[in-house]
Amino acid sequence: MQTETNVLEKTIQKDLTGKVALVTGAARGIGRVIVHRLAGRGASVVISDLLADAAGAVAEELKSEGCSALALAGDVSSADSVEETVNKTVEAFGSLDVLVNNAGITKDGLLFRMSEADWDEVLAVNLKGVFLATKAAARVMAQRRWGRIVNISSVVGLMGNAGQANYAASKAGVVGFTKACAKELAGRNITVNAVAPGYIQTEMTEKLPERAKEAFLSAIPLGRAGTAEDVAAAVGFLVSDEAGYITGQVLQIDGGLLM
Ligand code: NDP
Repeated sequence: MQTETNVLEKTIQKDLTGKVALVTGAARGIGRVIVHRLAGRGASVVISDLLADAAGAVAEELKSEGCSALALAGDVSSADSVEETVNKTVEAFGSLDVLVNNAGITKDGLLFRMSEADWDEVLAVNLKGVFLATKAAARVMAQRRWGRIVNISSVVGLMGNAGQANYAASKAGVVGFTKACAKELAGRNITVNAVAPGYIQTEMTEKLPERAKEAFLSAIPLGRAGTAEDVAAAVGFLVSDEAGYITGQVLQIDGGLLM
């Protein structure tokens, strides 16, 4: 027998039916989990990433589960590429309602040894990429008077981290950008929020030296590293109808690391 709770769960699970979501850098790591979560809730999803094969593999996984998915190779730091991604999304699904700016890179090094190229590259992907994708996607959302944009910042953008001046600056920039866009786009019923993950177990953090990993872990009140699912759950909430009165916020997903 179907209980009331079951019915409610089903309704919530498919609450993104009819919505189209574009997630950048979605071929692996946190982005891949986000795209799975949104697709599972009924959204048609676009997996945008540098490599066509990797993005295509995620799209195939989703299609085999009965979801509607499209893979597009693209570089968020290129205006032409981002325009093309947004145009192809609208061509394929007729709309673009949700944008998750997830693509991000690190090029760590202490300030005196950080090259200009490493600075430029990190800012180009992590900050300019968020600007380009938001600008292109918000145009489509503004016409439809509904939109949800979630930018993946980092607690490092809020608290700094030795050896990550470029990354911290890019992620702090995302916070300011989020708030400015939230104010500009509110009149079009588009919310713009950021999530700031702490130490999340992915390939990106695998690269950290053991000492840095231990330092992070010992500073987390909840006593464990976060998972991509922890981040995806917060993103899933921020793109829902229930979060319609939340904009310009930065939600930390960090086990209490920074308070
Ligand atoms: P990963 O390195 O695992 O995944 C990042 C994805 O972005 C990859 O698929 C990568 O493609 C893609 N990408 C890189 N450059 C570009 C580009 N120019 N255009 C399009 N796609 C690109 O990272 P995570 O999953 O760990 O991180 C996801 C986001 O979360 C990032 O913004 C990161 O800064 C942020 N974050 C992560 C934390 C963590 O602990 N992991 C903590 C706080 C924030 P490719 O595989 O081809 O390089």
